Amino acid sequence: MTGKYKLHTIDLHFQGLAETIASYVVEGPDGLAMIETGPGSTLENALAGLAELGFKPADVQHILLTHIHFDHAGAAGWWAQQGAHIYVHHFGAPHLITPEKLIASASRIYGEQMGPLWGDILPAPAENVTALYDGDQIEVGGLTFIAHETPGHARHHHVYQLEDIAFTGDAAGILLPKFNLPDIPAPPPEFDLEVWLDTVDRIGALPVEAIYPTHYGRIPHKESHLATIKQLLRESALFVKERMDDGMNRETLIDEYTQWNRERAQQAGLSEEGILHYETVNPLYMSVDGIMRYWRKRKEWPGGNK
Ligand SMILES: [Zn+2]
Repeated sequence: MTGKYKLHTIDLHFQGLAETIASYVVEGPDGLAMIETGPGSTLENALAGLAELGFKPADVQHILLTHIHFDHAGAAGWWAQQGAHIYVHHFGAPHLITPEKLIASASRIYGEQMGPLWGDILPAPAENVTALYDGDQIEVGGLTFIAHETPGHARHHHVYQLEDIAFTGDAAGILLPKFNLPDIPAPPPEFDLEVWLDTVDRIGALPVEAIYPTHYGRIPHKESHLATIKQLLRESALFVKERMDDGMNRETLIDEYTQWNRERAQQAGLSEEGILHYETVNPLYMSVDGIMRYWRKRKEWPGGNK
């Protein structure tokens, strides 16, 4: 089935690397919708990509964000200040309007790298932000998108279905085009194994013929991809849990997790360049921190998982 939309992929060239973060521009009968803005650090590239397609910034009146992590949404405030309307999960909306807390906690993680990595993070005017709930339909550009709540990577995550395709953000994992390596970003503080496994099933059940993760591009073979993602979620969580149970410290765990992931990448035929692409969009220490936090939290539950 051919839709009434035309899909363009803008390569944001994050950190100078091709095909790591996408911003999708959908041309409908009555205008554009943009899915993901990318970070502020790639704003120039987003604008150049738009110009190449023959569009002006003012043509972008509607932006759908899968979630508010900076690599997906860091530039959203800038766009909102230009007059674009932002659609985002209701848990994420307040942080776009008042980003101070988000910036403060990210600054603790990234330190001096904050600016070079993410650029400016500006507040979005409240009147330009629409908070979305599961199942909401967003009518923009003469098209209808459906928001599907898809937590696990982040609590505040939506996948957007458009006719026969779906924009999956990080909820279906990542797969960079030139490298055949499905991967999972499991950052703190909201990574949740069980919840994410359910989300993958939910995406699998969507009546779409292809999915588009933000990292990066079209995946037509969604069944096999999603099966691999589920396996990887389980294996990664188990890898970390076993070592935590043995009393391994964070630094050693990061070393071992990195080693394990590099071996997996090499087995998939990735060169050092390929590994650099993956580790740039998915820093491995972040996943170790995310998974460790998840297991620590669970242990606190009465009769918990330990
Ligand atoms: Zn994310």
